Amino acid sequence: MNPERINPARRDVIVAGAGSLLALAGVPSLVRQQGAHDLVIRGGTVFDGTGSAGVEADVAISGGKIAQVGRRLAGRGTEEVDARGLAVSPGFVDLHSHGDGSMDDDPRMESLVRQGITTIVVGQDGSSRAAGNGQRAAGDSAGFSGMFASIDALRPSVNIASMIGLGTVRGRVVGADDRPATPDELRTMAAMVEAALADGACGASSGLEYTPGAFASTEELIALCKPLASRRLPYATHMRNEDDRLLDSIDESIAVARGAGCPLQISHLKTQGPRNWSKLDTVFARVETAAKAGLDIAFDRYPYIAYATGLTNLFPVWSRDGGTDAFLARLSDPGVAPRIRSETLAKVELIGGWENVHISSVRDSVDRAAEGKRLGSYAKSISVDPYELSVAMLGRNRGSIGMVGFAMSEENLDRILAHPRGMVASDGGSFAIEGPTRRGSPHPRGLGTFPRVLGRYVRERKALTLEMAIHKMTALPASRIRLTDRGRIAAGLAADVVVFNPATIADRATFEEPFQYPDGISVVVVNGAVALREGQRASGMTGRAIRIGQGGSGSR
Ligand SMILES: [Zn+2]
Repeated sequence: MNPERINPARRDVIVAGAGSLLALAGVPSLVRQQGAHDLVIRGGTVFDGTGSAGVEADVAISGGKIAQVGRRLAGRGTEEVDARGLAVSPGFVDLHSHGDGSMDDDPRMESLVRQGITTIVVGQDGSSRAAGNGQRAAGDSAGFSGMFASIDALRPSVNIASMIGLGTVRGRVVGADDRPATPDELRTMAAMVEAALADGACGASSGLEYTPGAFASTEELIALCKPLASRRLPYATHMRNEDDRLLDSIDESIAVARGAGCPLQISHLKTQGPRNWSKLDTVFARVETAAKAGLDIAFDRYPYIAYATGLTNLFPVWSRDGGTDAFLARLSDPGVAPRIRSETLAKVELIGGWENVHISSVRDSVDRAAEGKRLGSYAKSISVDPYELSVAMLGRNRGSIGMVGFAMSEENLDRILAHPRGMVASDGGSFAIEGPTRRGSPHPRGLGTFPRVLGRYVRERKALTLEMAIHKMTALPASRIRLTDRGRIAAGLAADVVVFNPATIADRATFEEPFQYPDGISVVVVNGAVALREGQRASGMTGRAIRIGQGGSGSR
């Protein structure tokens, strides 16, 4: 049946029915005649998200909530799913997502639903769609509450929580320049963070390799993270450096969280560049030392050995001071251009040369032929020096060129995913294989992260067990943002569920052909409505804004 027919008109009836159902079990005449439940998922191996081994059970869903979990539940569902031989898991919680970037273009969020993702956490890398209300934040008077209201009005296919981006806050108050904030500006920024948290933001993020976030000092970050402490919400950081100065960056991240007294989430932990691969043991040791001293510390990672960013990221941060115009002007300024060139070439060498730089998107159609190609080969094919080509393309595209860099270790990736403090997050966008979000040549993580962990890293490489992988995709990330009513399969929690085949689940998106949905996921349920059925999209557009700390995280 079409789930649209049971909502929204009958939503109130169903909610009332679910309440009576629990109180009056065994009196089926008092609930809907069609079935005792909206949906029953029968006979699957249920992984509850806590890391426990799977247990055969039925899961009954009514009124958007998990009503009952147990063997051979008596009440029929209006819709029944035969899950024998399949895994039944809480919907995946993507703790570091850029899926909101395209949600206005396509709120179906196909590539997320088809991976089994039911909640995304956006506002990452220092950048959020809204800043908090603050005395000087004119022009953003709606702040986070306005942003959440617009998400609810959009009715996306997945639930959306958001951190407040400290780079966005700095941009609003200090601007694009590389200078310390004045005491007055610092107070205004802290008030904006406080306001966003009061409206339900789930943490604060920094992007210290991006401008203007990179211009924040450690002391500024500590001051802006202090409002997180009493709420036990995390400071999530894309660190200042992930290659040669990785260890210093770990130390700074710990210093910020310790100084602010809040939990720390290191985003997309990696050891970038072959000469830095050996640093992972030291990274883990520093994390454990901080944990022993009382810091609530964890990290996340996507299951690929290549990262995605802007081509500008190969260029030194100082050269990007003041924004795009200032950056482009410096590229041709004889006073500084040679220094920019030598520092950029050193960075390219670090990741193994121009052949490890894959161009994922351009803005100007003149450069369309570069999309999906390695910059080294492409430059050679048109007989241009790769550095000169990069500079020319950045000028034509106003700095807006996406790149993927291949510079990480497969063994380290196994260890990061398997580490007890490690969890899975995509760092990806939301796409569809047709429509307005099929564009560019995006990093495949936006279409494959969660199935890839379950197929390649659990089944093939045996880097971690199935139940631990599920834990790292559900209850563990949910707990980081105090999302108490999702991330587990248990009666009374929000009904976000995914049914998949552990023997066949696999990602299909590649760097060359990213627009491919994964295999092996049969059913995805978001807030009790079926969004994916037998691998086909159902209509369910039942996601909602998640406001943390507002009397039940997911409730409105
Ligand atoms: Zn990042």
